[in-house]
Amino acid sequence: MYDVTPDQVWVWQKLEAIVTGLLQQYGYQEIRFPLLEKTALFHSAIGEVTDVVEKEMFTFTDRKDVSISLRPEGTASTVRAVLENGLIFNEPQKLWYSGPMFRYEKPQKGRNRQFSQIGVEVFGYPGPEADAELLLMTHRMWQQLGIDNVRLELNSLGSAACRESYRTVLIEYFEQHLDVLDEEAKNRLHSNPLRLLDSKNPDMKAVIKAAPSIADYLSDESQAHFNQLCAILDACEVPYEINRRLVRGLDYYSHNVFEWITDDLGAQGTLCAGGRYDALVEMQGGKPTPATGFAMGLDRLVELIVDKQLWQADAQTDVYVVWDKQVAVDQVMALCEQIRNDLPEITLMMHLTEASFKSQFKKADKAGAQFTLILGPDEMDKQLISVKAMQDRNVPQQQLSYQDVVSFLTQQLGQ
Ligand code: ATP
Ligand code: MG
Repeated sequence: MYDVTPDQVWVWQKLEAIVTGLLQQYGYQEIRFPLLEKTALFHSAIGEVTDVVEKEMFTFTDRKDVSISLRPEGTASTVRAVLENGLIFNEPQKLWYSGPMFRYEKPQKGRNRQFSQIGVEVFGYPGPEADAELLLMTHRMWQQLGIDNVRLELNSLGSAACRESYRTVLIEYFEQHLDVLDEEAKNRLHSNPLRLLDSKNPDMKAVIKAAPSIADYLSDESQAHFNQLCAILDACEVPYEINRRLVRGLDYYSHNVFEWITDDLGAQGTLCAGGRYDALVEMQGGKPTPATGFAMGLDRLVELIVDKQLWQADAQTDVYVVWDKQVAVDQVMALCEQIRNDLPEITLMMHLTEASFKSQFKKADKAGAQFTLILGPDEMDKQLISVKAMQDRNVPQQQLSYQDVVSFLTQQLGQ
């Protein structure tokens, strides 16, 4: 877990503003749910044989011995929340959430124990149009964020029936290669064989590559669902690659699954991952409701933006007010408040303690101020304010009336 210091907070704020602005543009609505849930929710909604539930949750008991966990992801809670609040009773929903998630992982680049996700969950649309919209929206997002080295990988996991026949074949195949499977793979072979395809163990790479492909087990219906998604992406000129080894870490996925991956972050390159989970709502006690969604990791996006210097920080301060200790401070503060009333859009900082002009100007420089307003005895006598341009040395310092200062700043700062 780590702190975000002010020199990087602006990246987070800008990222969140762009992403949530896009979600709004596409008509998605925000939902908020607690950081803590009963542990049982995650066991039933994520699945027992998953990294998250087996070894990654922060789980403890409360004062009444109820097992609770910090949320490791948002889909389980969203499903619980829409059911408890009756939000998908005979109506579709397009929802998003944002906030911290917690997983007890081995910390490394791109992998933290508290990390942030923005996720989207769409309920009530069975067809590929909803999946396609998620991909069109994320594609537009990369463009707006200025991230270009990112590729889309797609696969279909088919319906439950398709996966059943594929599972059997996959188990048979891996049973012939037990010697190369690691302990984790052996443990999962019978309970969650698809997860073996997702293994990061290099020794298993070759055997995974030669494994049977899900493509040969998709029903006509599943294939058509997938083909239609691809057709929409083609029509909208969103490039993608089909990766038949792509499975999702969580158990509830079916049909279309996808990941947006960058090569610019080393091993932890998945920026956004998701897919369709038509079975989950019913599993959680609701009426059968088709659903699709994704989650993207904001920590990795911030890392990418900072590492690659994709964004430049905007100047933080428009105006810095410098004053001489012979001037009454109450008048200086009253003047600053007056400017804030008249020019609410500008950032104005007043030096908050008596200090030499030299040290106040240093602070103004450090704050990146565009202009300083100077209040000394001379200015007070004449009822004027000196204005000094900090960035453009060609603009001469001038003494102006209050009204002229307001007009000058309005003109200069584009208000
Ligand atoms: P992996 O296989 O890399 O562990 P996952 O399947 O656990 O990924 P998801 O649960 O699908 O990942 O989470 C969606 C996204 O959230 C990831 O693609 C990633 O960007 C981000 N994410 C997941 N876990 C972490 C983490 N521990 N630290 C930072 N970001 C994370
Ligand atoms: Mg993981």
